[in-house]
Amino acid sequence: MNELGFSKLVVASHNEGKIKEIGDLILPFGLDVVAAPDLGLIEPAETEKTFVGNAILKARAAVEISGLPAISDDSGLEVSSLEGKPGIFSARWAGPKKDFYMAMKKINNKLKAADRRAKRKVSRSARFVCALAVVWPSGRTESFEGTVDGDLCWPPRGERGFGYDPIFLPKTGTQTFGEIEPELKHAMSHRAEAFQKLTNSLFR
Ligand code: IMP
Repeated sequence: MNELGFSKLVVASHNEGKIKEIGDLILPFGLDVVAAPDLGLIEPAETEKTFVGNAILKARAAVEISGLPAISDDSGLEVSSLEGKPGIFSARWAGPKKDFYMAMKKINNKLKAADRRAKRKVSRSARFVCALAVVWPSGRTESFEGTVDGDLCWPPRGERGFGYDPIFLPKTGTQTFGEIEPELKHAMSHRAEAFQKLTNSLFR
C-alpha cells in the first residue's frame, strides 16, 4: 500500500492513446493498473461543460461499477482563433469513426475561412488542455489541470502520437507532437503537467 491508500487503479478511458500515456506516467509508482475496457466498463456520456467536470464524471462512473479507485483524463485542443474550439468537443469533431484527419482538416478549413473574413492570416496559436481526476470509492475526489502552448501547422506531420498531434507544434520545438519521440512529448505535454501536479499533491 502507498500514500494513496490503494495499490490497484482503474484508468477510466477507452482511448488507447491515453491509456498508454497514463499507464506510462503511472509506471514509476508501482501501481497495478487496469484499463476500463478490460473490466467491460462502458463509456459514460460526457455531459459536463468543462474538462475537469468531464474527467470527474468518467472516473466516478468507473468507481461506481468497479468499486476500485479510478483515474481519468479529459482533454482536448483549444484553438485561439476559433474561440477555443474544438475544446471539450475535440473527440466528437472526429465523428463516430474517430477520423482525426477529417477533424484536423475541419480546423484548417475554419482557420482558412477566418483568414478570408479577416483579410489576413489569423493566429494559428492553440493549446492542449488536460484535466486529470482521481476518485476514491469513499467519494474523495481530486483534480488537476495542465496545458501546453503551440501553433498549428498544415499539412499534418508525423505518424506518432494520436488525435491532433500531427498538426501541433509546441512553442519550444520545430517538430510536431506527431513527429517527436514519445518520451519528449511525455516530458512537456499538457498531460505531463497535470500529472506532475497530481504526483506533487498525492505522492509527497
Ligand atoms: P476525450 O478527453 O476523451 O473527450 O478526448 C479528447 C480528445 O482530445 C482526444 O480524442 C484527442 O482528439 C484530443 N487530445 C487530447 N489529448 C491529446 C494529445 O495529447 N494529442 C492529440 N490529441 C489529443
